[in-house]
Order: sequence, then C-alpha cells, then structure tokens
Amino acid sequence: MKIVYIEDFLDRYPANPVENPDRVRLPALELREAGYEFIKPAPATLEDISKVHGREHIDCVLASGHYAAASRAAGGAIAAAELAVQGSPAFALIRPPGHHASYNRAWGMCYFNSMAIAIKKVRLKAERALIIDIDLHFGDGTVSIFRGDDKVKIVNPGSVDLDYSYLGMDCTGYLGQIEKAMEGFEFDIIGVSAGFDTYEEDWGGLLRLEDYKDIGELIRRGSENCGGRRFAILEGGYHPDLRLCVKSFVEGFH
Ligand SMILES: [Zn+2]
Repeated sequence: MKIVYIEDFLDRYPANPVENPDRVRLPALELREAGYEFIKPAPATLEDISKVHGREHIDCVLASGHYAAASRAAGGAIAAAELAVQGSPAFALIRPPGHHASYNRAWGMCYFNSMAIAIKKVRLKAERALIIDIDLHFGDGTVSIFRGDDKVKIVNPGSVDLDYSYLGMDCTGYLGQIEKAMEGFEFDIIGVSAGFDTYEEDWGGLLRLEDYKDIGELIRRGSENCGGRRFAILEGGYHPDLRLCVKSFVEGFH
C-alpha cells in the first residue's frame, strides 16, 4: 500500500477556506507515522488532461490561476492508478478535489477531473473500470465524462440509492450499497473517489470512523476479482477529523 503525496499539494491557491492545505497535511502526518511508504507524483501533462477536458475549459483553469494545483492533483491520481495497475494498491492524498469537473465545466472547488484523467491514462492496461464515489456529493463530473461508456461503471452510494430510500439510509445500508456496487459488472480496476464529507461530524452526518475501515475492506475484498488492482484518491471531506477518516479507510483498503 503506497501513499501518493508531495509537499506541493500544500500550496495555497484561491479556494473556499474549507478547502485548505491542512486537508492533506494532517492526514499525511498521520499516515507517515503509521509507517506507510510515500511516493512523489509528477503533475499530469497537458496531453493527459486533454483526454478528458476541452481546450476552452483548460484555458479557463489557466486564466483562473488553478492550473498548477489542478494538474498536480491529477498527476497524483495518475500515479495511484499506475501503481494499482502494477499490483500495488495506492491512496493519492491530493487536493483540489475533481469529481465535479466535466468536459468543459467545473464547480464545487474542482477544476480537473483527476479520477477520469487517471482512468483514461491506464485504459490500455485496465480497460473496464469500476468507480466507487463515496463522497457525500454526487460525482456529476465523472458521470458526465464517462456517459455512454459501457466499459465504465460508476456508483455513488448514499447519493444515489437503488431503492430511493437514501434519506432513511443508515451505516449498514450504506455498506450494503458498496457491496452491491461490485456486483453484476466485470472490471479490471477499481478507482475510489474517496470523499469523507459523509462522516458523522461532517456535512453528511452519517458514517463513523469504523465505517470507513469497513468500506476500505469491502472494496479490497471486491478487488480480488480484478487481481487486487485498486486505488483511491481524496475528494471532499472538511472536518478536522479528516486525518482519522483517511487513516481508517486506508487501514481497511491496504
Ligand atoms: Zn463532497
């Protein structure tokens, strides 16, 4: 299990104050202390980014001053996906998040869709991808990018419930959605858009620390169907306990 991280992720850029460098700094300290191996990624290239985003959007991100941060985050996701393909599970501790970025638009503190860029990058080695998006918010950007692609399955447990009963969903129901996500579709790799804002003390008010470990474990077990190829990237999560949520997830996922 490798942690993809570089101190450059701490760079400040104009963002909502909740999306601050401590979101990756504190989990990095926690994971270093726990003894995980760290890998430094390179930024995503313009070529990699252009496989997912249009020129108009890339120019917009350049003009906004977020290009360096967004391409670094995408590079972190690529490194994690490449490690997964080589047989080592990985967690990319990146910011800014990316799952609200679509081909020519982005919102919600996102600029480039790091998950989509990573999945496209390793496509030749892992054609069929299962993306599990555990962020509180529906990963609309990722869905929009892969719409019509029958080699990709995206599941947003919690924000889309097959029984339309998400308001009544408890932790057990949530975990059930994760299990269901891995059924009925053959995949070569699992990518997890790991947002932690569904945490009980965060905006979503549902999942406990131990649930994140269980989610990690369920996905690790599910990945036995694809040779263990699995990676996760940080999306949202804004409570100071984020470092503990990440650690708990990684403990189950590794
Ligand atoms: Zn979110």
